[in-house]
Amino acid sequence: SFENVGFIGLGNMGSRMANNLLKAGYKMTVHDVNCNVMKKYSDMGVSTKQTPFEVAEASDVVITMLPSSSHVLNVYNGPDGLLQGGDLLTPQLFIDSSTIDPQTSRKLAVSVSNCILKEKKVWIHITYVENWENPVMLDAPVSGGVVAAEAGSLTFMVGGSEDVYLAAKSLLLSMGKNTIFCGGPGNGSVAKICNNLAMAISMLGLSEALALGQSLGITASTLTKIFNSSSARCWSSDSYNPVPGVMQGVPSSRNYSGGFASKLMAKDLNLAAASAEEVGQRCPLTFLAPNIYTEICNDGHETEDFSCVFQHYYSGKSK
Ligand code: NAD
Repeated sequence: SFENVGFIGLGNMGSRMANNLLKAGYKMTVHDVNCNVMKKYSDMGVSTKQTPFEVAEASDVVITMLPSSSHVLNVYNGPDGLLQGGDLLTPQLFIDSSTIDPQTSRKLAVSVSNCILKEKKVWIHITYVENWENPVMLDAPVSGGVVAAEAGSLTFMVGGSEDVYLAAKSLLLSMGKNTIFCGGPGNGSVAKICNNLAMAISMLGLSEALALGQSLGITASTLTKIFNSSSARCWSSDSYNPVPGVMQGVPSSRNYSGGFASKLMAKDLNLAAASAEEVGQRCPLTFLAPNIYTEICNDGHETEDFSCVFQHYYSGKSK
């Protein structure tokens, strides 16, 4: 039932996701604050709009892929934002794929459901609802990075109503190869920040152990071989090793380029820390990890892959 897809935020991830939707044959309307990006899309014959609200007016579903919570709030609730029409909106579905805090995802889902659709929609995928009067929202952050966005092999972690998730699944599968339903509103964002939290802390633990091992006289390659056949094995040790020369085809083998930027990891860790604080969850490492990544960024490595923490923090090479 979705023919007209609006897309806002055509950066590293969003541009590739939008391109896959174009390939899949959706009729697209796009917006980005960056004029050069807009020109690229209008040159390709894609309809571009100056404001999120104009995108909403032309779309059945609007997808956002923006840097952080403040940008998402601005695009939804700002003066020319997606929800500006208040009680008379055209899109029946809003999907936010940005990595943001679950609390913001939940507030937005409420704001969206308080609006009214210009025309009642009959959702063929949703068996028990005949006429849908209010628009709905899914938080659907992704894992996979730029390479998976380009290849259309992202994993979507989706929060919201399960019926709506099922209705949106084929649209999401035009940009990814996996979708996982995580539960109610905000749970996609919960899954995303918790995944990145566990990944960041395991990268720090591994880096610390490899640095200590080297200082005590064992090579990182030997120690990695041992870890990978022992209980310290993890994704960071066997698929994304942070020590240059230990593995081929990973960011550490190309000066930490072409991966997941340290500044994005710092952002995601700050989201996890803020969320832990809000719910009063005891998470000592969650509060320590963002400081380590902030230090790495302040030392000039913010665009390098997050595994550069081994080189610059634990090996102290940059100081
Ligand atoms: P990006 O900075 O490359 O792209 C963001 C785009 O949003 C830019 O084109 C920017 O001009 C646009 N934008 C900013 N504010 C806007 C506004 N108010 N209105 C319209 N457009 C606006 O970021 P990205 O790497 O594409 O990441 C997007 C999101 O995906 C982030 O939340 C990030 O954490 C998450 N993410 C990124 C990766 C990755 O590897 N890059 C992986 C998974 C998830």
